[in-house]
Amino acid sequence: MEVREEEIRQMVREVMARMERFPQKEQGGIFQNMEDAIMAAKKAQNIMQKMPMDFREKIICHIRKKTREEGELLARMGVEETGMGNVGDKTLKHLLLADKTPGTEAITTKAWSGDRGLTLTERGPFGVIGAITPCTNPSETVLCNSIGMIAGGNTVVFCPHPQAVQVSNYAVQLVNQASIEVGGPENIVVSLHNPTMETSSYMMKHKDIPLIVATGGPLVVTAVLSSGKRGIGAGAGNPPVLVDETADIKKAAIDIINGCTFDNNLPCIAEKEVVALEQITDELIYYMKENGGFFISNEELERLTSLVMTKKVLNRSCVGRDAKTLLSMIGVKAPEETRCILFEGPKEHPLIAEELMMPILGIVRARDIEDAICQAVWLEHGNRHSAHMHSRNVENLTRFGKAIDTAIFVKNAPSYAALGFGGEGFCTFTIASRTGEGLTCASTFTKSRRCVMADSLCIR
Ligand code: NAD
Repeated sequence: MEVREEEIRQMVREVMARMERFPQKEQGGIFQNMEDAIMAAKKAQNIMQKMPMDFREKIICHIRKKTREEGELLARMGVEETGMGNVGDKTLKHLLLADKTPGTEAITTKAWSGDRGLTLTERGPFGVIGAITPCTNPSETVLCNSIGMIAGGNTVVFCPHPQAVQVSNYAVQLVNQASIEVGGPENIVVSLHNPTMETSSYMMKHKDIPLIVATGGPLVVTAVLSSGKRGIGAGAGNPPVLVDETADIKKAAIDIINGCTFDNNLPCIAEKEVVALEQITDELIYYMKENGGFFISNEELERLTSLVMTKKVLNRSCVGRDAKTLLSMIGVKAPEETRCILFEGPKEHPLIAEELMMPILGIVRARDIEDAICQAVWLEHGNRHSAHMHSRNVENLTRFGKAIDTAIFVKNAPSYAALGFGGEGFCTFTIASRTGEGLTCASTFTKSRRCVMADSLCIR
């Protein structure tokens, strides 16, 4: 207990030391009111627009370096402030974003040349982007969005979740510090000391914000899409993982437990329920139990349901908690190695049908592949977000992929392979499921411009 308190004191000392490094009036991009924040970001964007691309890349390189250096501190701050997730996995998420979030290389030019000259389609900045960020991946989203949006030549006004203001604003300060240290402008990203729904709403209506990017649940995405501005909506998911009879069942069990328990199931892409073919369900459960799964009784399930879905509404104090803590909340002392809570039920069970964001995996049995696909599609609720499958049958994989039609479809790996963690491809924490951009990167945050030179510059 004493060690823990000392750790917290140390963390506070580190944060205070960092705060003191910034001039008091700007506080490293953190403002008292939204109008001042937007004006500061606008001023920084004017400077940014005139900067060579190489300079943007220099700033981004330094953001990556600082994220690597401070990843663990940010992880600790995030867990401390929100009470969600775990430090080890959050640290990995910061390292991942530092290494694998694309910079300016993701922005490419298209060219046509012929008898009538040369035409280019180039990607240019929107200007000042408004970005609304969640409490589940707070500093991860701020840093990842910052890299992509700055690579596109934009500056950013962040509206962090009120439950994660400290850690989100610390990330904002880190980005500005990175810019200043390499000779770039201040306030390339900004935020508020006290962000509220009113300040978000002010930002959304502001004439100097041409693009709003919302990473969060259905309400915020709907609010952004109703704003009358261009909006990118990275909304909720409820990813099912389907296991058929051709899968390597032991590997599937290990992958599912690893994916589901990563950062205590906070990632929106994480396995939230299992649909398994009848003939392999018992074997799958056996291996899940061998790998940290704790199968609860019907009576324990009833208590867990009342705790997690109090009066049919998600109990936010359970979100992002680890399995042992959740079990202790219903009076069950689980073995030390417990990582995930398992139970069987119909797809309509509230702990299966709802997006919970905690390591609870309901398992639904299916008669055959048609039944499995049908149940999994129902469980995804048309979010078109993420789905996963373990199978060696290419036909089954293809059928499910087409039927579920999600932005992410991971095969034979834990869900986090979709973020480039144990899988190919780049990293992002903003998956634009609802508006269709999919995994966002620098080019998502730019607009298209055609540049035409008639009758010249073609030397073919
Ligand atoms: P949340 O919706 O409670 O909050 C997200 C952000 O939106 C916060 O900054 C909040 O202050 C703001 N907000 C909420 N309602 C608003 C409204 N009506 N108007 C303006 N702003 C509003 O989400 P959360 O609990 O922080 O995050 C978890 C949810 O986000 C889950 O549903 C998860 O699936 C989703 N998520 C999606 C992605 C993705 O990339 N698709 C990534 C992370 C989280």
